[in-house]
Amino acid sequence: VCSSPKCVQLSGEILSRMDLTVDPCDDFYEYACGGFIRSPLVPTDSSKWGTTSVMDKTNKFLVKQVQRVLRGSSNDAVNKAKLMYKSCLAVPEDAGQRLQSMLKVVGSWPIVTPGLSWSEDTWQFETALAIARKRYTQAIFWVYVSEDDRNNTFNRLNFNQATSFFPDATAFNGSKAASNRAALDSLVIRLVQLLGGDEESARAILDDLWHLDKALAEVGIIDTRLHEPFNGLPSQIKLTLIEYRADVRKRYNLMTLQELQTLIGPGLNISLFLDELFEEHIPLTETVIVRVPTMFAQLGQVLSKAKKSTLATYISMQALWDNAHFASLEFRDAIEDFKAKLAGGKNEVPRWQSCITDTVDALGFAVSALFTEDHFTTADKREVVQLLENIRESFLDSIPSLAWMDDVTKASAVEKATKVSHKVGFPDFIRSKDKLDEYYSDLVITDDHFQNQAAEFRYSSLKNLQKRGQKVDQGEWPPHTSPTVVNAFYDPQKNAMIFPAGILQKPIYHSAYPRALSYGAVGTIMGHELTHGFDTSGRRYDPDGNLFNWWGNISAREFEHRTQCLVDQYNKYELKGMKKCSLQMSGGLTLAENIADNGGLRLSYRAYQTWRTENEDTKLVGLNLGLNQMFFLGQAQTLCTVIKPSFVAHILRNDVHSPAKFRVLATMQNMEQFSEAFGCPKGSPMNPDNKCVIW
Ligand SMILES: [Zn+2]
Repeated sequence: VCSSPKCVQLSGEILSRMDLTVDPCDDFYEYACGGFIRSPLVPTDSSKWGTTSVMDKTNKFLVKQVQRVLRGSSNDAVNKAKLMYKSCLAVPEDAGQRLQSMLKVVGSWPIVTPGLSWSEDTWQFETALAIARKRYTQAIFWVYVSEDDRNNTFNRLNFNQATSFFPDATAFNGSKAASNRAALDSLVIRLVQLLGGDEESARAILDDLWHLDKALAEVGIIDTRLHEPFNGLPSQIKLTLIEYRADVRKRYNLMTLQELQTLIGPGLNISLFLDELFEEHIPLTETVIVRVPTMFAQLGQVLSKAKKSTLATYISMQALWDNAHFASLEFRDAIEDFKAKLAGGKNEVPRWQSCITDTVDALGFAVSALFTEDHFTTADKREVVQLLENIRESFLDSIPSLAWMDDVTKASAVEKATKVSHKVGFPDFIRSKDKLDEYYSDLVITDDHFQNQAAEFRYSSLKNLQKRGQKVDQGEWPPHTSPTVVNAFYDPQKNAMIFPAGILQKPIYHSAYPRALSYGAVGTIMGHELTHGFDTSGRRYDPDGNLFNWWGNISAREFEHRTQCLVDQYNKYELKGMKKCSLQMSGGLTLAENIADNGGLRLSYRAYQTWRTENEDTKLVGLNLGLNQMFFLGQAQTLCTVIKPSFVAHILRNDVHSPAKFRVLATMQNMEQFSEAFGCPKGSPMNPDNKCVIW
């Protein structure tokens, strides 16, 4: 038992999150997290606050501290980050003027520009849309470059559906439609007035804007809201969206630009749009990936029916939607108020934190250079990689005994798990001042926050579009994943896991922690990411990350059959929302994450047992828990989360992860080893007879 001051401190931190009055066999989540949940330190203005929120805030604070360090010349990437942060904190002047000039670039919005001679004859839809896409926003549909799902060494142009002002098409139908309409109306009127226009001309466009947004949303596929009642939606949409969710192959459709043009019809001239976007002629023989063909098949009709002035309004509103909050606090409040009406409350974030977020989004590698020097050492990296390898071994060891999988499929599963690569901490180039400065050399940062954001959009957009037709850089760290983020990822197309330094911090990871805690916390997260390669979507990609089937028919059927057990299990959980009203969660929406959660805990538990056969671990003074008990506590305490009742409905509808409480309860209920560790009798709440096991 370790009783050093550091161990005493760690014990104290762990105990403060617990509620020892709860029987761990009754409700392990309350036992592990009751203290955290009822802590007076939980901010009352936050929609959702958990262990990772505390880490996120700490990281932001550390990044802010780093901003104080003085370095180098004006072309120094770190100095750009500092200037970006400073410009964000400053109170901007002439916000309206800046936005007016943005609107002029994207083709102008007649009702806010007095004296403008806007004419349907000279305004050109495709040109306006392409310029908006280059400089400020992705409106109407998304265009970007990513690796080809079936040849992941090659980068192709992608066409995908865009987001509307609302989460999805259900917003325009049913009980919420009237209040949503009112919210959008008041947003438009407020923006128009802030821009110097008058309410009357704003009101004149509200109907058309609402109907265009509705039409665009309804031709798209609702991606993550499977259990929403689809009031009033055409029946073929209900069908396609369920198939679409269930099968990632439906999102992969190769066609030439000519074929795409034929699919869309006369409402949009693809050539005009692309030639303006790339500033060169793009031949229609080029093959592209169309993610949602059903949407593009109907898009042409929607666009043909819309008035040109409505399309101009729509592009302008999208540009404002994505950029106005950088211009001034009044504009920001207008947009935040709208979002708050939809989500069930405002998520208040202190100004310095949102400025750090903006800075990290734009210059993530620059802020990470100093952050990682102080908070993620080479020794940390070595140890984390070793842990990862042990988790991988645990997965490989478990394959031979899977009774439901045939031998050929097993061999491929072993190959896939063996080939999973990982990126840990940060990309090496950020430690070289020259390479880091070179990376951001084309990004010009001034003391004007709005211009900085626009510059960043243009810079990233160009960087992405330039990859079209190029070979994929396999070793590349994902461009918008800052090493400071508190998150981890699995990329099925690269068959790679990414663990940024930001998540490899206390209380998820520390080199001095007993291994029971490390395996429970960070080990489970590693197992979670690895299992994503074998969840409902990840399993569709082969060992090299290409979308080719490697499953025998019977094994695939057995897998699907086993997922149903998890769907049924999670469907039974309920959370209290507003007025203590119980809301059911969706086992279908959260299935892939639940597979990863269950696989992750199991893999890490086995890896820890293997590690213990050759190593000694230490218990902690005052905690009074065995090592296996500490392992399970380690997992649970990474997930402690408080959700404001007014946000519960929104989260259950939109989050593909289960609420934290069930990420803990369900995974523990499925593991016999948990009940053994805590001596939970058969039939007690934490030890039900039925256990769902896949990996
Ligand atoms: Zn996940």
